[in-house]
Amino acid sequence: MATKQLTDSQKHELMSRLPKVDVVAADAALAGARRRLGIGALTNLVREAVRLEREAVLATGQAPSSERVLSAVLAAVEAALGRRARRVINGTGVVLHTNLGRAPLSSAAVAALTEGAGGYTSIELDLSTGRRGARGAFAEQALCHLTGAEDALVVNNNAAAVLLALTALAKGRGVVVSRGELVEIGGGFRVPDVLARSGARMIDVGTTNRTRVADYRQALDSDSDVAVILRVHQGNFRQVGFVERPELGELGALARERGVILVKDLGGGALVDLTPTGLVGEPVARSCVEAGAQLVCFSCDKVLGGPQGGAVVGDAELVNRLRRDPLARALRLGRLPLVALEATLASYLEGDLDAIPAMAALHRPLSQVRERVTSWGEQLGAKGIRSRIVELDAAVGGGTLAETPLPSVALVVETAEPNALARRLRQGAPPVLARIRDDQLLLDGRTVLPEEDELLLAAVVAAIES
Ligand SMILES: *Cc1c(COP(=O)(O)O)cnc(C)c1O
Repeated sequence: MATKQLTDSQKHELMSRLPKVDVVAADAALAGARRRLGIGALTNLVREAVRLEREAVLATGQAPSSERVLSAVLAAVEAALGRRARRVINGTGVVLHTNLGRAPLSSAAVAALTEGAGGYTSIELDLSTGRRGARGAFAEQALCHLTGAEDALVVNNNAAAVLLALTALAKGRGVVVSRGELVEIGGGFRVPDVLARSGARMIDVGTTNRTRVADYRQALDSDSDVAVILRVHQGNFRQVGFVERPELGELGALARERGVILVKDLGGGALVDLTPTGLVGEPVARSCVEAGAQLVCFSCDKVLGGPQGGAVVGDAELVNRLRRDPLARALRLGRLPLVALEATLASYLEGDLDAIPAMAALHRPLSQVRERVTSWGEQLGAKGIRSRIVELDAAVGGGTLAETPLPSVALVVETAEPNALARRLRQGAPPVLARIRDDQLLLDGRTVLPEEDELLLAAVVAAIES
């Protein structure tokens, strides 16, 4: 029945039978939702469901249904709660998954957080003197040790580090950058936009695929007000073929010769050489400092394996200019990530890389991954769930080492409907993120954390049986 066929009195009669917002909101079936969302937010969801019901009734002439409204509200409640960040199991094979918060923290970092979060912390107090201390002093000293730099500064993330460096050193002046490095990292970080926001003037040189030292030299010759040469690590994409870029050391030499500052945006902050894991091509922060970059900016939650954060390491005089810039205060690292970063860096100082989950995941031998996934398969088999093992490539993720394969092993869970199973896993407790490839549901053994085996298997059983 269409609207026009309803008489006014029919409409009136139908509307009078619409469920009342406050009655639905008080329904016993919504007791849990009232507790978890609060009555205000729940009432808004109910109001919206009743509004949609009214539209549907007017459009079709059907009788209003309390059950339909209630189930719409329950679905909206699930959706609202699903938007809240929760602990999940990462079976995707992407070690540093940006949508999953990048690096999981070490137990030392978690312990430091647990201890520090609920109480007061001596974040800007030197307990040895009782006087005011510099915020982040331990982290900054550790970064100096680990990179060989004279000084270091920690901020909210690497985007903040780059923005601060360009603002403090080049506002109103020229920054020379290769056209091959005007990249987008994702999540809104585009080199030309960050440069513009810093107030610096971009001087792009070379071409997309080839830039030579002579291009930088020429730009410095023809522009008398250049402050910085910016070098950006091409982390999340790869150029192959007819490609040329100068070595960082060559740019370092040129910068010193011309009295300008070489700033390297390193992206991921590898503090150790990852070559032994088979991951070739991720530059180490120390080698950038040694190659002559006066400032090196990097993330703390990519290959470094810590909490969200950004670091700038390099020449003491320059780092100090950043520290004194008013923007530094706006971009400073929060208390909790700082506590977690200090614990993570302490593991590096102690040489205990296996304590850092992302490092452990990258370093874990393939044979160990295979053994573990085999055991998953056996345990699921005992419950009548069929699966098999495949070898494949995981990924580092987090805008690092694009295209560099990370050998891994995954369990293919046999199912006629991989997407439906993936959805049930995602909506389970705890949520499990699987990977779908070639119409198969895979659980990658490299990214599920060592202590999560039992939870994972229980979640798979629950999702299959539901
Ligand atoms: C990841 C990345 C950034 C941004 O770092 P965040 O810590 O995510 O802010 C900037 N530059 C490069 C080259 C990157 O790889």
